[in-house]
Amino acid sequence: MKTPVTVLGLGAMGTALAQAFVSAGHPTTVWNRTPGRAPDLTGVTRAKTVADAVSASSLVLVCLLDDASVQEALAPAATEFAGRTLVNLTNGTPAHARRTADWATQQGADYLDGGIMAVPAMIGGPAAFVLYSGSEAAFEKHGPTLSTVARPQFVGADPGLAALHDLALLSGMYGMFSGAIQALALTSSEKVSPTAFTEQLLVPWLTAMMAGIPALARELEYGADDAAGSNLAMQSAGFVNLLDASRDQGVDPALLVPMGELLARAVREGHGDEDIAAVVPLLRTAG
Ligand code: NDP
Repeated sequence: MKTPVTVLGLGAMGTALAQAFVSAGHPTTVWNRTPGRAPDLTGVTRAKTVADAVSASSLVLVCLLDDASVQEALAPAATEFAGRTLVNLTNGTPAHARRTADWATQQGADYLDGGIMAVPAMIGGPAAFVLYSGSEAAFEKHGPTLSTVARPQFVGADPGLAALHDLALLSGMYGMFSGAIQALALTSSEKVSPTAFTEQLLVPWLTAMMAGIPALARELEYGADDAAGSNLAMQSAGFVNLLDASRDQGVDPALLVPMGELLARAVREGHGDEDIAAVVPLLRTAG
């Protein structure tokens, strides 16, 4: 028999997770705060209480709205967790993950924190992956079962590391979307076709610039190479034009202003002849 699995939370993501387990033949028990959620989900056992759901499986996944909802939902079932593995796939911070890991350890449970890098429709498909951190033994034991929903990738024993990686990836994503949003706002201030601009220019340009990111990472890790012809003094001087053109065109440059300030600060602090990698350490506020 395949490993029995419990899924706590039948929102869009929890439902997709439960569906994937059922489809793969895992006995699947589910619980949701509001009964009757996901009526189309068949083949599962619906538990009335969290405690009943937890006691049904040695592997318990929780996927709720946020950290507060996880604390609230799990507390009444605390005594049921001994000897089980709790996998928390709820979006949260490294601090949330470390606190929930401590709580799980106090209950005698193994703990894995997970960052889902997929939308519900991707669950069970080839492009989905989930970052895990926490108990390596639990990951070794349950990795094959967890691979049912998405490719599992272990990023370290510190339970906070999955959230750190997850939020870093989302930071990169939102930075990319911020840039695209600003670019489209600027071009839309004139009669420029958003689709033609995006397909013919923006995407090819961003794809070409993407090649600079591994170089940036190598420089951070191994030290400065020669600046590749794009020093920060030049970039800071040119960046002013991005801000001025936005204002001239009646477009709010708010998404760009912090980057302009960072470049200017880098130049003030003596990094004008270095390249973009030099601004990464400037963002650190501790350590
Ligand atoms: P939904 O809004 O669809 O569902 C939220 C779920 O949380 C519901 O089951 C809801 O129960 C439950 N919930 C909220 N508050 C509480 C509470 N106080 N106690 C118990 N249960 C509670 O969200 P998703 O399923 O889409 O997302 C779930 C998690 O997955 C989030 O942390 C999200 O960031 C993460 N995620 C989602 C992705 C997505 O694209 N959807 C992608 C990657 C990660 P009820 O039905 O009773 O309201």
